[in-house]
Amino acid sequence: MSYPKTPSKSASHKTPHKTPRRPNAAREEVQVFGRLRPLRSSENGPCVRVVGKTDMVLVAPEGSSQYGRKAQQHQHSFQRAFGAGSSQKEVFEEIGLPLVQDLLNTKNGLLFAYGITGSGKTHTMTGEPQDPGILPRCLDVIFNSIQHLQAKKYTFMSNGKNSFEINTEAQAERERRRLYPGRNRRRHEETSVADTVRIPDSIVFDDVDPDSVYGVVVSFVEIFNDYVFDLLEDAKPDKDMRDKGPQSKRMREDTGRHQMYVSDVTEVPVTSTEEAYEQLVKGQKKRRVAHTQLNHESSRSHSIFNIRLIRAPLDEAGKSVLLNADYLRVSQLSLVDLAGSERAVRTQNVGERLREAGNINQSLMVLRTCLECLRDNQNKPPEQQKIVPYRDSKITQLFKNFFEGDGKVRMIICCSSSNSDFDEMLHVMKFAEVTQEVTVARSQAVKFDIPGLAAGRRQINNALEAMADGRAPSSDSLPFSVEVAPAPDSPYTGFATFIDTFEGQTTQFEAGCQYVVRGMDAFKSALIQAMGAMTSNDALARANENLERINQDLVYKVDDRDQKLNHLIQIVKSNSAEEEKRRVRHEQRHEQAMHDAEEERRRARKEEEHRLALLENTVPQTSMPEPMATGMSPMATAMSPRSPQVAGIDSPDKENAFGHGGSGAAPLYTRKRRSDEKWLEHKPEGTLQTDTVLQPKLKKSKTVTIPKKSDMTSKNYGRYMLHHQEEDSIGEVKEQLFKGAMMKTRGGGMSVQFTDVETLQQRRPEQLRSECSPVKPLEPTAPALEADVDVPERCATAFEGRPGMMTPSVAHRVTSGR
Ligand code: ADP
Ligand code: MG
Repeated sequence: MSYPKTPSKSASHKTPHKTPRRPNAAREEVQVFGRLRPLRSSENGPCVRVVGKTDMVLVAPEGSSQYGRKAQQHQHSFQRAFGAGSSQKEVFEEIGLPLVQDLLNTKNGLLFAYGITGSGKTHTMTGEPQDPGILPRCLDVIFNSIQHLQAKKYTFMSNGKNSFEINTEAQAERERRRLYPGRNRRRHEETSVADTVRIPDSIVFDDVDPDSVYGVVVSFVEIFNDYVFDLLEDAKPDKDMRDKGPQSKRMREDTGRHQMYVSDVTEVPVTSTEEAYEQLVKGQKKRRVAHTQLNHESSRSHSIFNIRLIRAPLDEAGKSVLLNADYLRVSQLSLVDLAGSERAVRTQNVGERLREAGNINQSLMVLRTCLECLRDNQNKPPEQQKIVPYRDSKITQLFKNFFEGDGKVRMIICCSSSNSDFDEMLHVMKFAEVTQEVTVARSQAVKFDIPGLAAGRRQINNALEAMADGRAPSSDSLPFSVEVAPAPDSPYTGFATFIDTFEGQTTQFEAGCQYVVRGMDAFKSALIQAMGAMTSNDALARANENLERINQDLVYKVDDRDQKLNHLIQIVKSNSAEEEKRRVRHEQRHEQAMHDAEEERRRARKEEEHRLALLENTVPQTSMPEPMATGMSPMATAMSPRSPQVAGIDSPDKENAFGHGGSGAAPLYTRKRRSDEKWLEHKPEGTLQTDTVLQPKLKKSKTVTIPKKSDMTSKNYGRYMLHHQEEDSIGEVKEQLFKGAMMKTRGGGMSVQFTDVETLQQRRPEQLRSECSPVKPLEPTAPALEADVDVPERCATAFEGRPGMMTPSVAHRVTSGR
């Protein structure tokens, strides 16, 4: 690869300084500076020397291409030439400081470091922590100047599309917490830089607009092999969680301002040099790792560190940032450490390396071609101007706007004075010459005249805040100066008078300030009281409203209840009238029933008395019937089946008692013997022991006062008998035995089907005597008889009942002598 032939100026005839140009207020030159690296002990030389303040002289050493030729000496002029002993600070103040000043005044700046590998580009641009280069010093001066005017971090957030959004303080705080949720945020951000010893630059620009707030973001990219890589982007693992390695970024043009930018580049907000430097270190580390991974040499890539200063006006109160992105002003300072400019043949690269080196040199070639094109165009009418081939390389494409008047362009040519580098240095000098002949449109500072925003509002706000805190505002924090009026009798006559006047004024001013402070205090406490009162009034009003609402609700509820109650009262009234009627009807029916029952009882008694009278008349003439002869006992108990359902006497005991085939006591149905079935005898509590002789004898029976469920459902019992006692009309106990069969129901329960009822009634002997005088009275305490006991010995009379008959159909009398 070779460089295009350009007319070189030979130093043999002392090169005139730059071609004199017509001063053009609208354009400015690309300033080119030269810096010579000290010769190392291992190197031969020097073949380059600094002459005066601006020139460098190259003398062809022995063995170089120019040695022995006519023009052995070449002199080159620069804006300023720095010798091997120049300090970093000196270089910075000459080259970097004006760029920082521009940046603070919303102008862009671009600084290239050009030279062969090892000539001191990185040293000049970045330097070392203990001897910082232009970049850290630029950061120092920027932060020194905007220190007290900085917006909260994350107030200005890049959207990845070359513009910024404004966050309120709260949003900025939320963003900070989102990015750094831990408490040790500051340690995290400043760790490695805090550990390094760095001497900061102390220069401050104090002409920074105080009515604005400022934010700084940095980005760091690398152009390698014509691909752009983001050096601050955190590694994004692929879907298999492996590091995807460096991913190239695209370049785009801002549609509004036609500015070129790296799309979605990481722009990190920083508030101090340490934070920014941390990003620089991070990027350099990433660059080294990537180069090791890809086996590349860092000298083969361009690295670009961008500092962007975002400026936004304060609001009317001078307190917070004006939340209007239209008023944002962004200025940029790009510091470019170009790849080594040495030719490929010199590095003896082959294969892929040679191709890469070709690309690198190609990009530098394009840069040079663009500069030449610009230089040629500037002296030609527009129609003759050539198209500048910015698009042929990423580095020229990215900075195209700078060459078209978007900001200052500066170049520092780093030179090696080693004899072995002489030939390369000639090419470097030629490049420098071309560059310094280029002029670019002068960039204009952006005016910040926003209607309605008064100058000095930050200071007024600061003074008011100080007074509100009970502090007297310092005089330099006030946006006005104290006028010192001379005493009328001796205007400017003596210094002492002036001092007196000044002191008097100062005292007066201080008193005035104190008065204002007291006034402010009083106002503040009055305001607090008023706000407190308003707050408590508000609270009371709200509580009152609530209570009224609750009260209203209660009134509605009470009304509702009243209505319901009235309704219920109506219902109750109508019900009680109904009830009363029902009660009267019931009582009438009851009385009627009682009356009927009494009638019936009277009729029955009469009938009975009549029958007994008949019996009394009949018995003396009647011989004992057959049953007596066959063991039928005379009975003192009368049987009176009252229910038509009664099926007759269904008891083997009574069979025994009445005998078989008795004329009057024969059962109505043939009774089936059910001796295998047990009886469940139900004697309710309070059942009297009547001791009637015809008490049935129940084999295998169980007697209960209240049958349990288990008794009722037990398979053991097939038969059921219920004792029921009541007092009859003559005061005797009448006992009824309701008998039934226990049967299973389909539903798995048990039902009792009553089959007959047995009535046992006892009469006192006197009564019997009166009824049947010849009959011997019974022993009143005669025990209950078993069926096979000698019943005739105990019973005087037996009555036998049949179904459907109200009175005994047959009466048995004991024979005389018993
Ligand atoms: P480049 O980036 O151009 O390849 P470097 O900046 O890495 O070169 O410089 C190579 C070496 O020379 C470094 O060790 C650096 O410290 C040293 N060096 C370069 N310029 C100077 C200088 N002006 N004064 C002292 N040392 C320098
Ligand atoms: Mg370097």
